[in-house]
Amino acid sequence: MPMSDAFKDRLSRRLPDIAETFGTPFHIYDETGICDTCDQLNTTFAPLEGFREYFAVKALPNPTVMTILKKKGFGFDCSSVPELVLARRIGSAGEDIMFTSNNTRTKQFQAAMDQGGAILNLDDLSLIRKLPHVPEQICFRYNPGPERSGNHIIGNPVEAKYGLTREQLYTAYETAIQMGVKRFGIHTMLASNELNHTYMVETADMLLHVISELHRKLSIRFEFINIGGGLGIPYSPEDAPFDLAAMARGIGHSLAEFKKINAWVPRLYMESGRYITGPHGALVTTVINHKHIYRNYVGVDASMSALMRPGIYGSYHHIHIHGKEHLPVSGPVDVIGGLCENNDKFAVQRSLPETREGDLLIIHDTGAHGQSMGFNYNGHLRPKELLLKKDGSVVLIRRAETMDDYFATLEFDPLVLPAP
Ligand SMILES: *Cc1c(COP(=O)(O)O)cnc(C)c1O
Repeated sequence: MPMSDAFKDRLSRRLPDIAETFGTPFHIYDETGICDTCDQLNTTFAPLEGFREYFAVKALPNPTVMTILKKKGFGFDCSSVPELVLARRIGSAGEDIMFTSNNTRTKQFQAAMDQGGAILNLDDLSLIRKLPHVPEQICFRYNPGPERSGNHIIGNPVEAKYGLTREQLYTAYETAIQMGVKRFGIHTMLASNELNHTYMVETADMLLHVISELHRKLSIRFEFINIGGGLGIPYSPEDAPFDLAAMARGIGHSLAEFKKINAWVPRLYMESGRYITGPHGALVTTVINHKHIYRNYVGVDASMSALMRPGIYGSYHHIHIHGKEHLPVSGPVDVIGGLCENNDKFAVQRSLPETREGDLLIIHDTGAHGQSMGFNYNGHLRPKELLLKKDGSVVLIRRAETMDDYFATLEFDPLVLPAP
């Protein structure tokens, strides 16, 4: 079921007041739901000693939300310098941060190694010589290529730009040992929005297999395996929820087997984004127009600048209309924003109850890869973010972009290369 009934209920009770106070459109995140999911994750994986979640910052790069996650013991997976700065601003440092970049330059590694450092996760063999100095610990990202099939969003590993091949891994760790690196981890990220838990168990098994082989050849013990993110959430009412407990049991079993054979065992790290915050956010937007041509359209006051997923991946986001949940649905409509791009649609041929101008439309599951993916094409500005706190209060945690923000990059000191 998309968006929990509990969140829907908490939101419905306050929605008209919230919309009046803050104005639409906005993303609103549910502190209770986020905390419950963090607790569920920590409890479910507690039997796996040393388990840690590194929240993928790109999913929801808001310091207020990240502070909640940090209090739950999460680290952060960053892939750019601004994301690193964000994680450090809320007090994370050193091994609380995993730097999973790709196509990286030395100055980015320098930033990652400064100020308390981070666990470096290298995306290629060639990047070893781009490091400004030898780190104590290193991790490489593995791309299994034809050994595994990927899934819908990430695609086939053979076509994915990420990671090292199986053959390169051996050279990579051997080189790292020769350079004086002392501690090792391994990473992979193969799936996105995957609802089948066995895929994640197979990914852990794959990494355990690879590190046993590397251990035999190079005598190194791996401190952790990081299986990436990609745990799915049920966007559509027909989707079954991800079975987290079965995943933990499966991987727990694999780790126990590994320990029996090797007498040591790596910790399990994960870097979920979507699973942690996705269902606990909603985009609230107001109906501003209706249009009837070859199709029927419902125009709202948000656009793709607030949520790109339907436009770029054709993703389904469930929608309900405040106060009209129990009314019968009428003929299909397209729910549209105002961008001059025909994929600026939140829903295509969706059956919804009849709407009127001023109705509040709630677009579900925007708590991950929602606001953060937004852009400014066509001069559309990104909306504000709100947090519905446990005590029922609602706070602004990011203001909406303004016209001044939009024009800010046009203010600069003149710079001209004179004609020769
Ligand atoms: C995007 C990304 C994640 C998070 O993916 P989710 O689908 O949000 O779980 C984790 N790790 C890496 C390297 C990523 O690129």
